[in-house]
Amino acid sequence: KKITIAIDGHSSTGKSTVAKQLAKKLGYVYVDTGAMYRAVTLYAMRKIMVTDNKLDKEAILRHLAFISVKFKFDEDLGYGVIHLNNENVEKEIRLMEVSNNVSKVAAIPEVREMLVKQQHEIGEDGGVVMDGRDIGTVVFPDAELKLFMTASAEKRAERRYNELKEKGEDVNYEEVLKNVEERDHLDSTRETSPLVKADDAIEIDNSNLSREEQFEKILSLVKE
Ligand code: C5P
Repeated sequence: KKITIAIDGHSSTGKSTVAKQLAKKLGYVYVDTGAMYRAVTLYAMRKIMVTDNKLDKEAILRHLAFISVKFKFDEDLGYGVIHLNNENVEKEIRLMEVSNNVSKVAAIPEVREMLVKQQHEIGEDGGVVMDGRDIGTVVFPDAELKLFMTASAEKRAERRYNELKEKGEDVNYEEVLKNVEERDHLDSTRETSPLVKADDAIEIDNSNLSREEQFEKILSLVKE
């Protein structure tokens, strides 16, 4: 039987790495819900509806009907790549500027409602590994397996910093740590669907686990 696997946790806890590995191993569909929130944020940034010090919620709401966020399957990668109004935005949504604004946009209830509905449709038949903040609590409260990934903020900032550096972005560690901590705060304190561990989720602290150790541990949970 094809089950639903929900993976939640703060930013840079390695959710997407595990989710991709699992989907590949099981032949499931991988869905990165953070990419969907990032794509909507990118749209709003391009239209100057959100900047470092402003959020024009009304304008975003007026535009919601014109924002299409879709995953298009990529044969080589083996999973869907995020498209905003038919444009591949995978690279752009990972930029630091988008990370700095995304939690504000993700706090808008109507934005969440639109994306959660879509996530539901994508995963309704099971056979899906979905990663995000509210998958086990809101999107698929009945998921057969729920994981809640954690790691210290410093460890997570270090990972994200290395990733951004590798991509050639000009960032410093302090700035990345600040962003990680700010998003932790906004994501856990927002009114709609705050980031909390579902009661029945299994917590995995990977501060001191290698990728391989972590994957073996999770795979054994799937088999149970
Ligand atoms: O997973 P990622 O770090 O790319 O997510 C970016 C942001 O999108 C999060 O910090 C959070 O504000 C928002 N998000 C969310 N709910 C999800 C996935 C992401 O609010 N299910």
